[in-house]
Amino acid sequence: MDVTEEHDDSFGIEVVLPDGGKPAPCCPHGPTLLFEKVAKGSKEGRRFYACSACRDRKDCSFFQWEDDKVSEARLLAREADNKSKQPPFTQQEYCNRFRKFASLPLDEKKFCQDCQILLLPAELSVHSAHRSTAVSATQLRRPSVLLRPLDNKKSNAQYLFTDRSAHFLLDTLAALGYRKVLCVGTPRLQELIKLRNLEQKHEPMKSLLLDIDFRYAQFYSQDEFCHYNMFNNHFFGGEASSAVLKAFLRESDGEKVVMVADPPFGGLVKPLAHSFSLIAQTWKTLKNSSDAELPVMWIFPYFFEPRIQEGLPSLTMLDYQVDYDNHPLYKHGKTGRKQSPVRLFTNISPRDVVLPKEEGYRFCSLCDRYVWSLNKHCAKCNLCPSKDGREWKHCSTCGKCVKPSWKHCQSCGRCALPDHPCGEGKEGCFNCGSLKHKRKSCPLKDSHRINRKFKQTEAKGQQSVLKKH
Ligand code: SAH
Ligand code: ZN
Ligand code: ZN
Ligand code: ZN
Ligand code: ZN
Repeated sequence: MDVTEEHDDSFGIEVVLPDGGKPAPCCPHGPTLLFEKVAKGSKEGRRFYACSACRDRKDCSFFQWEDDKVSEARLLAREADNKSKQPPFTQQEYCNRFRKFASLPLDEKKFCQDCQILLLPAELSVHSAHRSTAVSATQLRRPSVLLRPLDNKKSNAQYLFTDRSAHFLLDTLAALGYRKVLCVGTPRLQELIKLRNLEQKHEPMKSLLLDIDFRYAQFYSQDEFCHYNMFNNHFFGGEASSAVLKAFLRESDGEKVVMVADPPFGGLVKPLAHSFSLIAQTWKTLKNSSDAELPVMWIFPYFFEPRIQEGLPSLTMLDYQVDYDNHPLYKHGKTGRKQSPVRLFTNISPRDVVLPKEEGYRFCSLCDRYVWSLNKHCAKCNLCPSKDGREWKHCSTCGKCVKPSWKHCQSCGRCALPDHPCGEGKEGCFNCGSLKHKRKSCPLKDSHRINRKFKQTEAKGQQSVLKKH
């Protein structure tokens, strides 16, 4: 059965987080997630397991109804298939390879672009028909430049920070006194930390990269990289690998830890929040304190704010616009340029995260936080209301500030785009179509719809954030 195509919009699909009961079957990306299909009107839908990491069945075709009886033969075949899809080397082996590679003379240092791997002399002949390049010492320190960014649109597109954003993050964390940075899906940040240490101008920082892209394993030692899936908190290297995280989270010698995560934007918020709280819980247990919380920075588009706050209520959204080198739409905005919708969600006190004045941020003493220049304080709302970087305006009928392009609509009784499908709001829930509630109180509002129609509307929604108005 193809979950991506068979169902129309009347189905919502929701993730059911693992409750420690029956273990989920595994795909090559670790334990699968349990999803529940909820049809219009009915209470309980049929549940199924699907890949946690891949939204497209082309990338991981795992599918199993929760009540399916799976034969022994199929289980064995599945296990063999999962094994065959693991990295060719262990982290220890990658690390040994790296040491050998680093000691090679410059003219023997080669990287195979087709296989995305550093080549040792004995392997050159096997790759002789492939495209390979020389690797300088500088390039070896910048794996995120050497490796081709994965561009799989749905599950694993890699968007690398611009120097501006990466340095802002690093300088901010250093100024706040963090000495250990847990980099979850932020390979470029990890790389910058190591480069900064080489300068020997600052107090050194430690970093540990957790990422599903095991090409990064070839550049790092065992205590610097773990092959990890952030949607199910799975360590591909097993117990030994999760022990690396544990050791990193232990704050000895007063070295403060912070976690920075930049998950793929198509990812599901609920399982991400779950994984991040598990990491935070581990930190807390090690710290042996009940009131402290692991400092977190979660980088994600602003329109996910309600969902993120549902999953991790202690995070607040900052105005800082994170931008990316290889993302055509998410560029930093000044006049005439597109603004990035990507923000920082953090439990670090917003007043302590100083946003750069020269880029157009200012401090709002009433809100006690730094805000974007166009985010003007509204006396009636008593806050700086803008979420998207544009100047919002107050609607006295709604009693709150709204997007500048919105107009108050009498028949909908709220502000909306002038060309909104008028009156439709009255008929029922925009999310699931039910006539019994509105979208705000929709029980499926956190649901994940894996059908094609939804992906289109979602993509449209995200684009319109950047284009309309
Ligand atoms: N801006 C970051 C990169 C973010 S792109 C930087 O410049 O460092 C998203 C990152 O998350 C990529 O490194 C990607 O490999 C990783 N990723 C994607 N899916 C993942 C998963 N399921 N588990 C762990 N990491 C994942
Ligand atoms: Zn999978
Ligand atoms: Zn090759
Ligand atoms: Zn207002
Ligand atoms: Zn209004």
